[in-house]
Amino acid sequence: VEEMMIRSEKMSVAGQLAAGVAHEIRNPLTSLKGFLQLLQAGVNRKEEYYKIMIEEIDKIEAITSELLFIAKPLTDNRNIESVTSMFDDVVALLNSQAKLKNINLIKNESIDGVIYCNRSQIKQVLINLIKNAIEAMVEPGNITLEFQQCESHVEINIIDEGPGIPEEIIHKLGEPFFTTKQSGTGLGIMITKQILERHDGSLEIVNNDGQGSTFRIIFPNSKK
Ligand code: ADP
Ligand code: MG
Repeated sequence: VEEMMIRSEKMSVAGQLAAGVAHEIRNPLTSLKGFLQLLQAGVNRKEEYYKIMIEEIDKIEAITSELLFIAKPLTDNRNIESVTSMFDDVVALLNSQAKLKNINLIKNESIDGVIYCNRSQIKQVLINLIKNAIEAMVEPGNITLEFQQCESHVEINIIDEGPGIPEEIIHKLGEPFFTTKQSGTGLGIMITKQILERHDGSLEIVNNDGQGSTFRIIFPNSKK
């Protein structure tokens, strides 16, 4: 019996993900069905229901598009890439969202580092982390990208001025579907960690001394 329990606890990662997806998609579907039935019965608060239904569909859409990213075959071509140039691409993509909240995306005046990586995957990592930082910040301020070339490794720090992460949930970040957001998917950090592992890198998450948090991407020293 004990052995069976141990085995069943060790559901494969694919199994866990499938169970999570089924659950996360079933909830909005159940809600959609409920609202459709209300509409069918001819209720009054149509506009309100339409709004909720669109939000539920958005949720399903967000989950499926992140899952498609995971499922994408990994054309794993790696090159020596400039961190600044990847950051610039990502800023072009996210700047309008940042500006809406009066947030500046800035790069610290440090040397421009290079890393040996798959450009589109590492851009995806930067997008996931900077998007989270924008979403976390309630007041105007800065999100800073900092590059550091250390003796044994390379660091890219993404520093925000948000509320930081409560100690009791910090270890949960990166679990599939863990989110504290109304319309979050809880897949961003999981995907980020997977991409970094593929690069023999890792992700460290720390709360800053003053305010906000730092997401530290660690890469082995550029090698070919
Ligand atoms: P999602 O963004 O869909 O919620 P993620 O995996 O990207 O999923 O993030 C998981 C959770 O981690 C978020 O819901 C949030 O609670 C927390 N988090 C991530 N980045 C930050 C940040 N910069 N500041 C505070 N909390 C964060
Ligand atoms: Mg996210």
